[in-house]
Parts: sequence; structure tokens; C-alpha cells
Amino acid sequence: MVDLFAQHFEDRDISTIAHVETILAELQVVVSDNHFVYTAGDHGDMYVNKDRVTLFPEPMKKIARIMIDLLKNTQIDVVVAPAVGGIALGQWIAHEMRVSPDFSNPLSVLADKENGIGFAIRRNYDKLIAHRRVIIVEDIVNSGKTTRELVAEISRLEGRLLGVVAMYNRGGVTAQDLGFLENTFHRRFFLPLIDRQMKKYAADDCPLCMNGKTINTDLGHGRHFVEKHGQPKAV
Ligand SMILES: [Zn+2]
Repeated sequence: MVDLFAQHFEDRDISTIAHVETILAELQVVVSDNHFVYTAGDHGDMYVNKDRVTLFPEPMKKIARIMIDLLKNTQIDVVVAPAVGGIALGQWIAHEMRVSPDFSNPLSVLADKENGIGFAIRRNYDKLIAHRRVIIVEDIVNSGKTTRELVAEISRLEGRLLGVVAMYNRGGVTAQDLGFLENTFHRRFFLPLIDRQMKKYAADDCPLCMNGKTINTDLGHGRHFVEKHGQPKAV
């Protein structure tokens, strides 16, 4: 018997990825061929601007559509998305499932960041998780910390976690990093549409700095860096 799930897994083909990458580049969610300073102080040529994701509902709907195509034949009861960036995408995914004949009518639940605990499901949504089939929706996965906290939260609430879908995995994160093992038999999956680890360089070993490439002062921590060190000069 053909495992439909495994087949859909493979359907995340080159043209789909290229299509999503084009959308994200056009919306300037992903900015490349540039020179950025990241939060941790390292440098790189690419930046994913989470804040722009929610600005454009229509393309996000398109991306949600592509994501749910990968999940066909998976019965899902609850779509959980973490505040803030994941919420818009979570809503679209739940909506697109609800209007599709291929899915049941999942609920859309949001998780909040709680001081000292990490991400938690509250607001009476916690009562909707037990014994239900749950997916987590993420926009951009960096270290995977948020998702890992949510995986633990769903387990604590006795939900049946089916897996995690994400728009962009830029941290090279695996399912194991998120606290579960991928398993096509039990339908547990980590499905990032784009799986691309961004190259990072230590500030004092950055080839972009050595080439004198101007640091972007609008996005990331470039402005602070330039105030302190000035723009790089080619060596
Ligand atoms: Zn640099």
C-alpha cells in the first residue's frame, strides 16, 4: 500500500519551495545578499523579517494552502500557534482546512509566552487539548525553543501531537531538537516548507566585513554595531 502521508512528505518539491521563496522575497520577509548583524552578535548575508509576515494576509493564505496540501489525509482537531508570529498563519491554516473537503473542522488555538514557564496554553484553550489530534504551526523556527516548549505543553495537557509545520526552518532544527521523533507510522512529522540553515560568522571572522560590505542598519542589530565600530572597510 502506498503510504499517502510519506508521499505528501515527498511532495514538498523544488517548485513548491521556489514558489514560497519567491513570495517571501517579494514581500521582503526574507532579505538576502546583504550584510546583517544578528541578535547574538554574529554576522550573515540573510535576514528573515518576522514582522513582515503578518502584513500581507493574501500571500499568507497562499502559503497556508501549500502547507495544508502536505497534510492531506491527516485528521486534525486543533491547530496550535504561538504568539505572536505564528498566529496569523495558524488562523489561515485552520481556515483553509475548514473550507476544504479533505479535512475536518479544526479549532484554532493560540499559545502565550508566560514569564518563567515559556509557552503555555491558557485562556480555557487548555481544556480543548486532551485526547485531541493537535498540530503546531510556526512561522519561522530559529533555535526551536518556542516549539519545544509547546510540544511539552501539549504533552502535559494530554493532547495527541501529530507534528509541527513551519514556514521556514532557518536554524537547522530537527524533530528531535523539538522533543519528539519523526515517525511516518504514527504520523508524527516536522514539516518546514523551507529548510535552510542561514550561514553565520563571528563578527571578527566575517568575510562580508573583510570585503567591506556595508552593514544594514535598518534590520537586525546593525545600527548598534555600526555606532560602536563604524562601517567595515575592505582589508
Ligand atoms: Zn560582518
